[in-house]
Amino acid sequence: MRRIAAHYVFTGIGNPIPMGVITLNDEQVITEIGVLTDETESTEFYTGILTAGFINVHCHLELSYLRHRLKPCGGLADFIGQMTKIPRRQPADSEALVAMRAADAEMQREGIVAVGDICNTAGSFPLKRESAIYYHSFIEAVGLDEVAAAAAMQRLRQLCADARQAGLPASITPHAAYSLSDALLDAAIDAANRAGILSVHNQECDAENELFTAGRGALHDLFAAAGFPLPPVTGQRAVYRLLSRIAPSVRALFVHNVALSEDDYDRAADCLPHLTWALCPNSNRYIGQAVPPVDLLYRRNARVAIGTDSLASNSRLSVLEELKSISRRFPHIPLQTLLQWATVNGAAALGKEREWGCLRTGANAGIVLIENVHLHDLRLTADSRACPLVMPTSGANRNPGKPIPCS
Ligand SMILES: [Zn+2]
Repeated sequence: MRRIAAHYVFTGIGNPIPMGVITLNDEQVITEIGVLTDETESTEFYTGILTAGFINVHCHLELSYLRHRLKPCGGLADFIGQMTKIPRRQPADSEALVAMRAADAEMQREGIVAVGDICNTAGSFPLKRESAIYYHSFIEAVGLDEVAAAAAMQRLRQLCADARQAGLPASITPHAAYSLSDALLDAAIDAANRAGILSVHNQECDAENELFTAGRGALHDLFAAAGFPLPPVTGQRAVYRLLSRIAPSVRALFVHNVALSEDDYDRAADCLPHLTWALCPNSNRYIGQAVPPVDLLYRRNARVAIGTDSLASNSRLSVLEELKSISRRFPHIPLQTLLQWATVNGAAALGKEREWGCLRTGANAGIVLIENVHLHDLRLTADSRACPLVMPTSGANRNPGKPIPCS
């Protein structure tokens, strides 16, 4: 048995509990949550706040070896241009493996217990089998050549089957509205519709909308110069190419959304009742000095979750660092909301709200201490840091344990 207490417990459901205490059994399952009245010798008391383990809904483990390799702030087209010029590491490359292991360890140190990870190869599968983190591998479809679509889907299906055979949750997903031919987009979204889960990069910059509305702009010029086939000019903004294909029942994650308009938001929310908006603010700043529409999503009470993106466009894999960035720029958003984005909402987006994301009796969701918080105003500070106190014992990819209802 273990009793852990702090100035506040944020459960993810309901209001924060001042002087909260959590009791765990030997399997790290919560047996009681309440208010600290009788501090005993066995109570561990921490200065700060306690929350469930963080969920990182968007990462690319495979790109971990690219830390500090790409020039920042040139915009998305420049970033893609740089990526295409860097020789891709093979999955078995030792530098790539070492970098992935370091990234996985960093996420554990940052209190992350579950990750939505984009995969182009099988390189991360052995690591994921051993990690204490739960990974959902999104096997990514990308390619503008219509003729190559059938062969690409065959390769992706095989990759997905390999992941599942290794005991890893996996599903096929499209990369973005702008990077797939009609045939590949149809097939990839059809596969995601059948799996019931999808993660797609959405409207990462204005050039993405321009490509579809007018057939011009920085992405258009990049593709034209490289000799890539161009996606069709539809006269509609990029998100509509996705909305017309995704089934309403799907748990869809739209990632980035930097160039999302209010109309785009309304239409997407109407079409997709289970849509989650993933924000990766530090990556947006690195790539294009851009800011996602945090205030719009907050005002509309949208389901928001947090991603770190990869180390190609971020210097840290820390959900808390993303929250600190949002809090600095949008100080009116309460810490309780930010922590719901970082926990409960992310778990729901990955279809794992029964396992992770909230602290409640019967849960084995991990416990993270956030230190150096402004306790009077309940605000994060520049020095706030995450310290995992408990990792979920059932969080491995092999056996998710007994489902726990999380209302
Ligand atoms: Zn990404």
